[in-house]
Amino acid sequence: MDDNKTAIKIAILMREETALRCTGKGCLNAFFAKKEGFEIYADREVELCGFFNSGGELDYKLSKMKEAGVQVIHVSTCMRGKYPGYAELVNKISKDFDVIGYSHGPAEGKTTQTVNVTGKYL
Ligand code: SF4
Repeated sequence: MDDNKTAIKIAILMREETALRCTGKGCLNAFFAKKEGFEIYADREVELCGFFNSGGELDYKLSKMKEAGVQVIHVSTCMRGKYPGYAELVNKISKDFDVIGYSHGPAEGKTTQTVNVTGKYL
């Protein structure tokens, strides 16, 4: 568990194809309101360090997030809904970060069960 007085560093990973048309409004609204996927930060400071998509050099992007001290990755709701290998990706990322498997909207997906892996910082 982390010290509640120190801001926890997080990032949001969105789906590449969705990034072509999404402005990020749903994720950002939930983040700034500390609701839905971000309500776990209700009583603590939180710093958004990255908002990046699943395309291109994803491993490199994740390594940059690690370098930046990011502790929690939110694998966004559009990833949960449409990214093939969502659960495998969450498990892979969880070797270096705590992972919350959605960002905004219902805690459980319509067709895909949310995968969260916590315990390092949350
Ligand atoms: S979860 Fe919603 S707001 Fe966030 S990137 Fe995906 S579609 Fe956009």
